[in-house]
Parts: sequence; structure tokens; C-alpha cells
Amino acid sequence: MLPEKMLALGKKRSAIREIFEYGKKRAKEIGADKVFDFSIGNPNVPAPACVKEAMLDLVNNEDAVLLHSYTSAPGITEVREKIAEYINARFGTKFTADHLYMTSGASSGLMICAKAMLLPGEEVITFAPYFSEYRVYMESAGGKLVVLPADLKHFQIDTEAFEAAVNKNTKAVIINSPNNPSGAIYSAETITKLSDILRRKEKEFGHTIYIIADEPYRELVYDDIEVPFIPNFYNNTVVCYSYSKSLSLPGERIGYIAVSPDMDEWQEMYAAICGAGRACGYVCASSFFQLLVAKCVDKISDISIYKKNRDILYDGLVKLGYTCVHPDGAFYLFVKALEPDSNAFCEQAKKHEILLVAGDEFGCPGYVRISYCVRTDQIENSLSAFAALAEDYK
Ligand code: PLP
Repeated sequence: MLPEKMLALGKKRSAIREIFEYGKKRAKEIGADKVFDFSIGNPNVPAPACVKEAMLDLVNNEDAVLLHSYTSAPGITEVREKIAEYINARFGTKFTADHLYMTSGASSGLMICAKAMLLPGEEVITFAPYFSEYRVYMESAGGKLVVLPADLKHFQIDTEAFEAAVNKNTKAVIINSPNNPSGAIYSAETITKLSDILRRKEKEFGHTIYIIADEPYRELVYDDIEVPFIPNFYNNTVVCYSYSKSLSLPGERIGYIAVSPDMDEWQEMYAAICGAGRACGYVCASSFFQLLVAKCVDKISDISIYKKNRDILYDGLVKLGYTCVHPDGAFYLFVKALEPDSNAFCEQAKKHEILLVAGDEFGCPGYVRISYCVRTDQIENSLSAFAALAEDYK
């Protein structure tokens, strides 16, 4: 007998993976250039030059044994120091190596935080549209994910609904900005309101409520818009950062957890994170990629390509009559489906070889997600298919 929950997770592929696999099959049948696959958030911009340079430098000059050794569980001290210095210079904070824990991307950071924080049955609030793996991580840690409905007007946070939802069982809130799938960036005003509510609720219920800031898209921002750095608004914050998108290294699995130096009893939280990492069997993040990111700490991939894609796609779709959230960051466009059932709309889109993800996957039915981290010519060529799709609904 095997655990039902694990069997269910393993047997049911995520809807995004399902569409992605269909896209690969379809490309073999009719040719890749005829399939407009917008399903998955795999960066298509290559890693910046510093990544290759750092790789060669490490292979040629680093001690060959050390390069591939186990590191201490939270990560190499000098790497964490380098990252802490960078964060402090950028955000005026006081992180040290002792506040940072190197992880295999934001996913394992989220799982570790869930395990480090949650007692059985405690609640974690998040806001639709949201990254559906949150449910997997929070529930695996024995918690309960509470999803609040989307603010369909601005794709910010409905702070009144939030205030009403926080209760004595609330242990944490996950925020993801820039957001997958909406591309929205939560404003300083939104974060201030959210933080004020949390401080009030902490007093009312007499316990700490944490913010988990899920930040794989922090660097993917267009048009000079500021992404508020949450620890500067709310002390009880942990940041789950990732180099998957910022350095186009999703397959290499590298990121970190940063525990705010201003958190109440941050040493306890850090110890629980170390314990959770151990309990998950993570051992340590890749030694090679820890050393690599320390060398590329202030670099990012060429995001001008995403901006170009966003502009062509957004302008093109709006001209065709689609309603989209204007995305300020990440590489997703969230578009209102042309019929109430977004799954049915995705099926209709498939007839034009357009592969989209239904908003239901993100707790936001009636919308679809387009990942525009694809070749620009795919976007240009897809517009006539989007036009034909719109015609189907006239
Ligand atoms: N959080 C969000 C919102 C994401 O979209 C993703 C990946 O697409 C992740 C976390 C996990 O990213 P990774 O584990 O590659 O850092």
C-alpha cells in the first residue's frame, strides 16, 4: 500500500506539463513552426555571458575536488556573504551570510519554508491568480492553503477580503510579485496595506504571521517599475529567490531563502529552515552553481527580448479585441477568455494550434495564461491564429 496523496500527485501531471507534452507531440506531427506553444515558463533567452565565463573559470581554476564537494547544508559561507552584500547594497538592508540558506531554486525554498513554519492544520493565505504548486508544498507540510479570489480590476490584492480572511490559524501569507500568471507587480501601496493588516492581526491573535515572498521573477521587470522589497515593509518576511529566470538557469536548480534580519527571533526561523532542509533530504544546493551565482550576483539575462515579445503580443491582442492585464513583469500575459469556460476556450485555441493554460489552473477561471518566453517570430506568426480564434466567437 502506498500513500494515496503521493500516488495522486505522481499520477496526475500538472495541467501545464500536460499541454507542454501535447505541444511536443503536435510539433512532431505538423512541424514546430506551426505550433504556437505558449504553455510553459521556460526562459528562451540564453544565460548571460558571465555564466559561461564563470563556468570555464571554475572548471579551469577551482580545486577540482572542492568544486564538486558537499558544501555546508546552508551553503558556502563566502557565497552567502557575497549575496548578502549584494542585497544590502541594493535594498539598504542588513543581511549577513547567517540569514541566507542556499536552495535548489524557489520551489525547494517554498517547500522548506512550509515545513519550517507550519504546525498541522495551520493556514497559509495566497491570492489568485497563484502558482498552483503552492498547494502541493503547503499541504505536504501539513498546512492548508487558503486562496483568496483575484482582484480582477487591477490584479493587486483585495485588502478588505484579506483582512476578513486572516484568523487565529493563519501562519503565513505567500505573495508572488511579479506575478505568475498575471505579470502584475504588487505596488508599494498594496504591500503597505497588507503589512499594516498583518501587524494588527499579529497583535490581535498574539502570534507571528509570516510573509513568504516568492520571487523568481524579481528581475524580470519592464518600464522602470519598482518591485517593493518585502523585508523593507514587513519584518517577519522570508524571501524565496531563484536564479531560474534571472540568469536563465531553470534546469540547474539554484536559489536561496533570505530570512529578514528584522524578524522576531530570526535565529529560530533560520534553525527551523536548516532543519526542514535536512528533513527534506536536500543536503546542500549544487556546489558548482553556488560558486557560479556568486560570480554573477549582479547580472541578469537580456530581458529586452521579453519586453519586445510582451509589447508585440499585448498590442496585437488588444488590437484584435482581447482584454488583457497589462503585464509589468515576469513573462506571462493573462488574457480574458472569449467564453466563460476557459478550458473550453483553450480547446478552441488548440484548433488553431495555439496552446494556452486555462486560468482555472491558477485559481482564476475565465482567463488564460500565455507564456511569452518564446521566439519573437512565434509571437508574430501567432497573431493571425489569434485573429482566427477571435473570429470563432463573432
Ligand atoms: N514560483 C513561481 C511563481 C514560479 O512561477 C516558479 C516557476 O515557474 C517557481 C516558484 C519555481 O521556480 P524554481 O524552482 O525554478 O526557482
